[in-house]
Amino acid sequence: ALEHIHKQHRFGSQSVHALSDVTMQIDRGEFVAVVGPSGSGKSTLLSIIGCLDRPSSGSYFLHGQDVLVQSRRRWSELRNRRFGFVFQNFNLLPRLTALENVGLPLFYRRDRLRNPIARARAALDRVGLGSRMQHMPSQLSGGEQQRVAVARAIVNEPDLLLADEPTGALDTSTRDTILSILAELRRGGLTVMLVTHDAEVAGRAQRTIGLRDGAVVDDSKTSCTSSTSTVSEF
Ligand code: ATP
Ligand code: MG
Repeated sequence: ALEHIHKQHRFGSQSVHALSDVTMQIDRGEFVAVVGPSGSGKSTLLSIIGCLDRPSSGSYFLHGQDVLVQSRRRWSELRNRRFGFVFQNFNLLPRLTALENVGLPLFYRRDRLRNPIARARAALDRVGLGSRMQHMPSQLSGGEQQRVAVARAIVNEPDLLLADEPTGALDTSTRDTILSILAELRRGGLTVMLVTHDAEVAGRAQRTIGLRDGAVVDDSKTSCTSSTSTVSEF
């Protein structure tokens, strides 16, 4: 849950009010689309939720725990354990294979999980790329690279997948493949929050949050298909 979140980005002596008084609660298993014009604060919102950035004021509770009073180390640990990130331009490391790219987040965890390679393989299987594990990013299509990025985002078994324009660089049929993978993951219990400019993508979500000038101007459920009987705060 976010409460009265404000964010000012500062550069030099200037500052931009990117978010103003944002309050929202995301429930476990929801599929939320964040929409709004360029510069409305969508990416900033995702970075704050994903513990990549801190708000200027306000509070943030995750499973009832106050995120913003945590030590820096604990806060970045939350980021590595609880969240998966997917970006528009895939952000894969070009010199690593698909399997190595997916396995990488596991090495950032202080509690080295067992069987990192098996976990990375399982994640690639879940996105249908079991046969491309040894490929380099340059040997994969854009859609396949994005599937690798999705596998990398879920390898840590996050609570929430944060995707910033994940289909922005893809054609419609590849976009649909990515969306069905996200829908499948959501049926498996993952909470998904994605930023999109694409009305069709937003239409697949259960809930749409509209931002304008850093404020929430719309928050509506687009369908009543709830996957969870007992709704709990994520
Ligand atoms: P887009 O659809 O173009 O990606 P957005 O909704 O994601 O836009 P944000 O990236 O969240 O918008 O930016 C919100 C506002 O904050 C913008 O005015 C932007 O210029 C500003 N901003 C974002 N990041 C920074 C930063 N690191 N330093 C300074 N200003 C920033
Ligand atoms: Mg953005």
